[in-house]
Amino acid sequence: MTGQLEGKVAVITGAARGLGREYALRLAAEGAAMVVGDVRDCEETADAVAAAGGRALSVALDVTDMASCAAMAAAAVAEYGRIDVLINNAALYGGLSSGRFDTLDPEEWNRVLAVNVTGVWQCCKAVVGAMRDAGGGAIVNISSLAAVYGLPFSLHYATSKAAVIGITRSLARELGRDWIRVNAVAPTAVMTEGTEEFFGDKLERAKAMIADGQTLKRNLEPGDLAGTIVYLASDASRFVTGQTIMVDGGTVYL
Ligand code: NAD
Repeated sequence: MTGQLEGKVAVITGAARGLGREYALRLAAEGAAMVVGDVRDCEETADAVAAAGGRALSVALDVTDMASCAAMAAAAVAEYGRIDVLINNAALYGGLSSGRFDTLDPEEWNRVLAVNVTGVWQCCKAVVGAMRDAGGGAIVNISSLAAVYGLPFSLHYATSKAAVIGITRSLARELGRDWIRVNAVAPTAVMTEGTEEFFGDKLERAKAMIADGQTLKRNLEPGDLAGTIVYLASDASRFVTGQTIMVDGGTVYL
């Protein structure tokens, strides 16, 4: 059986750990040649993809630096000759401080917007030329339930993820003429290292509260998300653009 992404080249940002790594493994298993980038070392992700029989190129990437984003896209084209898919997954999430909106550190606020919003814009700018050359493409932006439901005490993070939905809608309208589709995925809290850092000693209480508010009453695991990412990256969603898919066990219904 051939994979849903056979012959495609996919770039994933923030792929050193957590969900980015999970997506890299899953997209590679569907046949995509991968480019994995992060400010952290991504070699382990690339090795894991290779060990599973896939192809992955690891690049150093800081999404806040346009030259770094352009270098990532150039490396992808040099290695594979094209770019079909971009998963904008890199973000500041785990390790962020939380607190009343009027106590958040202004420098952290700016850093969150620089990575989570400007970073998405810059990675889109970096790959769009190669996608046009390939005759089209699929951009998948990672938003969050925080953007749609609201998340108290993390206004910088929730604001950044709401902006990701705005980028998705406007860019979808702009890039349709190039046959580049732009969609977003908005997950609830997934059980990753980032989530452990985010909730700290409140993790167990948060997990129980989150599951209780869902229609499907268990917490989201990384493997639950990958199918939606593959769908949006592949031709299975070829007439879907500008959308945000909630992967939240039925917390909000759009
Ligand atoms: P994570 O913190 O483990 O992973 C984010 C990755 O982005 C890290 O590897 C980090 O090094 C990288 N990164 C940070 N700054 C970067 C930069 N300037 N340039 C390049 N890479 C950079 O988080 P995760 O839990 O794996 O989440 C991944 C994505 O999913 C994020 O966009 C997050 O906001 C989103 N999300 C996560 C959850 C969750 O519960 N885990 C829920 C909703 C949305």
